[in-house]
Amino acid sequence: MNKDESSCLLKEIKLELTYRCNLQCIHCSSEANLHHAPVMSFEKAKDVMKQAIDIGIKEVSFSGGEPLLWPGLTDIISLCSSTAIKTQVYSAGNIDNPNVMMKLLKESGISRIIFSVYASNKNCHDRITQVEGSFQKTMATIDEAVKVNLSTEFHESR
Ligand code: SF4
Repeated sequence: MNKDESSCLLKEIKLELTYRCNLQCIHCSSEANLHHAPVMSFEKAKDVMKQAIDIGIKEVSFSGGEPLLWPGLTDIISLCSSTAIKTQVYSAGNIDNPNVMMKLLKESGISRIIFSVYASNKNCHDRITQVEGSFQKTMATIDEAVKVNLSTEFHESR
């Protein structure tokens, strides 16, 4: 393979695992909500990942909807980790029991998690997500991510 061919190789893919989400952000481009049915099956995601491994993908981003609501998330990340593919998850972190999920993500070998935070104060953030208390939940999840030493970033929305 020459240098030109190598620079054309696909190195990163993004998988939208689900359109389910427990927020209702006013700007949501996925029209995600809790009743939004389309969800990728675990078998389908595994098949996509096997094909990605075969063509030499180096990094996978998982998003949604809310990927933390997708039941096979830590398993699919573990599969990637076992082949040294880097993984990142885009999440709003609005979940119950964030200590459990952040620990499981750490154990799965995730490379980093990127949280959507829409404002620096709860009133503004909650107005955008249209769910009261979502700012506090997101902050609690971020705390847990930092506690288990996950590489953690904020996704800035303008
Ligand atoms: S957190 Fe993301 S997926 Fe969920 S409603 Fe907001 S923008 Fe849409």
